[in-house]
Amino acid sequence: APLLRLSGVGKRFANAVTALDGLDMEVRAGEFVSLLGPSGCGKSTALRLIAGLTEPSEGRLEWDENEKDRRASEPHSIGFVFQEPTLMPWASVFGNVHLPLKLAGVGRREAEPSILEALELVGLSAFRDAYPRELSGGMKMRVSIARALVTKPRLLLMDEPFAALDEITRFKLNNDLLEVWRRLRCTIVFVTHSVFESVYLSSRILVFRARPGRVSAELVIDPNQPRD
Ligand code: ADP
Ligand code: ADP
Repeated sequence: APLLRLSGVGKRFANAVTALDGLDMEVRAGEFVSLLGPSGCGKSTALRLIAGLTEPSEGRLEWDENEKDRRASEPHSIGFVFQEPTLMPWASVFGNVHLPLKLAGVGRREAEPSILEALELVGLSAFRDAYPRELSGGMKMRVSIARALVTKPRLLLMDEPFAALDEITRFKLNNDLLEVWRRLRCTIVFVTHSVFESVYLSSRILVFRARPGRVSAELVIDPNQPRD
């Protein structure tokens, strides 16, 4: 069974913009799936619906039963990475990555092993005491990814995370993200308008057509992923 299924999902905003119309898609446990399509086709809206940041105007979003139970007991079982790293400038790298656990009531001392593990995953162990202003764009994005991973989510949602980075930094981050995915065996839903990025990264691509958004094609890149 899929981890998550969206059936006939529509999303209309108050300004009468229809962002999604009849969206059917599923996310399978352990896969790296890309949502690919032009700007404005509803990819971010689909991602925000999955994250529970917004509700569908019509249609259904169903979680696998185990996942539903899990989410009830672990509200942080989803990690979200936005295009902007949105770090707190007054907090160190360590403090920024601590944030989701801090909000869940986990103190610095108790959170430390998870924070260090997340920093190690993104190659930032040596920068725990640095401040965001001292970091390059790529490093800020790494902090943002570590912050999303610190709660050990099963599902990682990423909304054009590398779009603002130069090509070389972006390529490095692509490779490191693949490594993170292989090590953690988490499920990743990755929004992008880059054909290269989607083909390079994902095991499956859902191609969105232009507005109103809906999946118009599915491309399986690696039929062996996800492994059971
Ligand atoms: P994408 O991520 O593919 O660029 P979005 O999901 O961000 O597309 O947006 C789809 C459409 O919905 C766009 O026309 C966008 O302007 C509109 N939209 C997105 N969010 C809102 C909102 N909160 N209120 C009104 N319109 C929105
Ligand atoms: P991206 O292109 O990176 O996907 P957007 O510019 O579409 O991002 O959206 C950024 C934010 O602005 C989102 O929170 C979205 O909901 C909101 N937004 C986008 N389009 C509109 C709109 N037409 N009216 C109101 N809010 C919007």
